[in-house]
Amino acid sequence: MHATTIHLKPQGNSANQGHPDSTEPSVQAPVSERKPKVAIVSLTSCEGCQFVLLDLGEKFLNLVNQIEMVDFRLLEDLEDPGEALDLAIVEGNPVTSENMKTLLSLRERAKLLAVLGNCAAMGGIPEIKNYHEGPNTIKRVYKYIQGIENPEVREVDNFVKVDFTFPGCPVTGEEVLKYLPELIAGRIPEIPDKPVCVECLRKGNKCLFLEKKPCFGPMILGGCDAVCPTARMMCQGCRGLRKTGNTKAMRATLKTMMTDQEFEDTTEIYGLRDDIEAREQPGN
Ligand code: SF4
Ligand code: SF4
Ligand code: SF4
Repeated sequence: MHATTIHLKPQGNSANQGHPDSTEPSVQAPVSERKPKVAIVSLTSCEGCQFVLLDLGEKFLNLVNQIEMVDFRLLEDLEDPGEALDLAIVEGNPVTSENMKTLLSLRERAKLLAVLGNCAAMGGIPEIKNYHEGPNTIKRVYKYIQGIENPEVREVDNFVKVDFTFPGCPVTGEEVLKYLPELIAGRIPEIPDKPVCVECLRKGNKCLFLEKKPCFGPMILGGCDAVCPTARMMCQGCRGLRKTGNTKAMRATLKTMMTDQEFEDTTEIYGLRDDIEAREQPGN
């Protein structure tokens, strides 16, 4: 698992990084000689995004060889020793008090924190609870609710600073392979602000609008290879709004294809509704 060594660019003040010719005693291996410490941790989630990583097979294991994996329970069951991290990757929402403790500790320990997937980034499917019966939703699942923690579902950036988001439900494997090495090297990548439509049209798809079928593609961040419209299903926005996505124009375009209620209901599936409401606040 640790057969190869990654040679990272030195981080921070180069005067502190050590040098092969240096006569100064060193208590810690120079950054360029040690593997970055990474933890991949699931809070409350279906863990589907973590399985995308495993589905990458050898490509993911090649990345794992370049790091010291401090915690990733789908690969090992060792106790997280609680040491400082170069990168923490968080999947899911902090729902229980134990989740919250884990999240706050990861943020404190990690130089960079990235969220993995729609739940952690936008509240995801669990956030539907907030939009409807709120705390009462639990009564549909459990007969006795005493002792069960049942807070409002709120995504990770409500509690800690997030440096990067791997969007999607689940995340896109190729995107993980593209951006994870950057994060491991201590750099924060930027996903190009292009709509799903760019990949959709590049694939030669006939736009759903031409068949009077709704689609959120124009306001949603691309990078998923437009999998849904390619399968003739509307984009429901699991990757979230583009920075420049025009939600009001999207509503107006879709008026003839779906009712306001249908629009609202669809935006609830992946936690898009509150982001749209925030975007449409006066002054934004
Ligand atoms: S984003 Fe989707 S696949 Fe990932 S943890 Fe949430 S529900 Fe599961
Ligand atoms: S089908 Fe959707 S994603 Fe594809 S071009 Fe039309 S609006 Fe854009
Ligand atoms: S097409 Fe839309 S809903 Fe489908 S994966 Fe891409 S962003 Fe998510």
